[in-house]
Amino acid sequence: MNIKNYINGKFENPIHGDYIDNYDPSVGEVYGQIPNSTNEDVEKAYEFASKAFPKWSNTTLEKRSRILIKISDLLEENLVRFAKAESIDNGKPLNLAKQIDIPRAASNFRFFGNAISQFSSESHESVGLNAVNFTLRQPIGVVGCISPWNLPLYLFTWKIAPAIAAGNCVVAKPSEVTPMTAFLLGEICNEAGLPKGVLNIVHGLGTTTGQAIIEHPNIKAISFTGGTKTGAHIARVAAPMFKKLSLELGGKNPNIIFADCVYEKMLATTVRSSFANQGQICLCGSRIFVEEKIYEKFKKDFIKKVSELKVGHPEKSDTDIGALVSAAHLEKVKSYIDIAESEGGKILFGGNKVEVSGSENGYYLQPTIIEVSDNQCKLNQEEIFGPVVTIMSFKTDEEGLSLANEVKYGLSATLWTNNLNRTMQFSKLLQTGIVWVNTWMLRDLRTPFGGVKESGVGREGGFEALRFFTEPKNICIKY
Ligand code: NDP
Repeated sequence: MNIKNYINGKFENPIHGDYIDNYDPSVGEVYGQIPNSTNEDVEKAYEFASKAFPKWSNTTLEKRSRILIKISDLLEENLVRFAKAESIDNGKPLNLAKQIDIPRAASNFRFFGNAISQFSSESHESVGLNAVNFTLRQPIGVVGCISPWNLPLYLFTWKIAPAIAAGNCVVAKPSEVTPMTAFLLGEICNEAGLPKGVLNIVHGLGTTTGQAIIEHPNIKAISFTGGTKTGAHIARVAAPMFKKLSLELGGKNPNIIFADCVYEKMLATTVRSSFANQGQICLCGSRIFVEEKIYEKFKKDFIKKVSELKVGHPEKSDTDIGALVSAAHLEKVKSYIDIAESEGGKILFGGNKVEVSGSENGYYLQPTIIEVSDNQCKLNQEEIFGPVVTIMSFKTDEEGLSLANEVKYGLSATLWTNNLNRTMQFSKLLQTGIVWVNTWMLRDLRTPFGGVKESGVGREGGFEALRFFTEPKNICIKY
């Protein structure tokens, strides 16, 4: 299927008529084409967005809210169609797309459709000076939203929904590897009555289309989710133009397991936090640290549970692990497994590509567990972003904490314990933006979401996202 750009409410071919192949990772074959847009397409999108801005930014909150909630309803009505499209484009199990990706995309619109009606500004009375200050929170104008391939519609809408709720107009680019559901979203926005030009979706390569968005002098804010290297590049390009930036970047998250946890719950959740979405979630707990007392038992039980996971075609209902997103990504992930032994690691389970019957050219890999003894090895320091986890034991709280923190990333951490003092100590001292205790990826959309260190700058979620997409202006009135 060939897809088109969505500009000013219309579906358009790229100005130069160039296209890029789009692959179905489950079979390793081209199944469509996407626009290879240039800076001229981005400029066109920008022009329409800036024309739409004066009216949209003056549209009542009630009307904006109604449109966002209508988009959410329509996504829910089209759940199966969107889930199928996401699964084909990305390789993720269809069930996962039905249960997580598309419902969450719908929730993003519903949440920010409601949140905008509760978003208020502050006022400060300057007592004794006969003056009162209030803060206007004004939309920025035209903003850029750039998202990755792992949770395509989920992360795309996590940016777009607050941006338009706050009154901005958007030029957005999904990953060129997974553009399909972003393309389908255009139709739904038209049906929901989103005015033309408020959202514009331009498809293409990061280095050309994405680059044109971040370089555009009048796109004043960029919300980006993707790799740390790309984030650093965006920061360098944007800084001299003083753009507002929100960067959600890579992770290498610790999963710290103490002997006093609720064992069965921890075990089941750890299988999920290791391998959900083929391990391609920035929040996956890819470094597992286990208290020495239960290390051997955990190792045995974890291997057993992981060996029961079924690698298969994403459409099959019994598939736990689908295909990786691309041939290049499969090779990257495999290259880490290949160096494991030279780094002193021991492959306890998996490590090999899988040939799925009838889909022999698909990008499948076994879930892989590697035992390591040195936290400084590449396997423990670099983001692999696939179905590969390392495990390692520790003796004391101090050791567990320093292993968790000895990494350049700081997105999330998971802690398994029933000890309250330990919970509080770790919660305060873990160098991450998110700490889950006795759970994983339990998300409340009101909470601040983001990382520290090389996992990013800024926070998304709840009012944080609405603050990002607005400019505060102080008005001081003397009376
Ligand atoms: P990339 O950084 O390669 O790409 C992310 C997006 O940026 C894509 O749309 C990409 O386009 C685009 N892009 C690439 N180069 C540029 C450029 N020069 N200017 C503007 N845009 C550009 O990341 P991946 O898509 O490979 O995604 C995986 C990464 O995302 C992992 O590191 C993961 O940890 C991180 N991530 C972080 C999350 C968080 O919340 N912190 C959540 C999910 C993922 P194209 O694809 O066309 O190249």
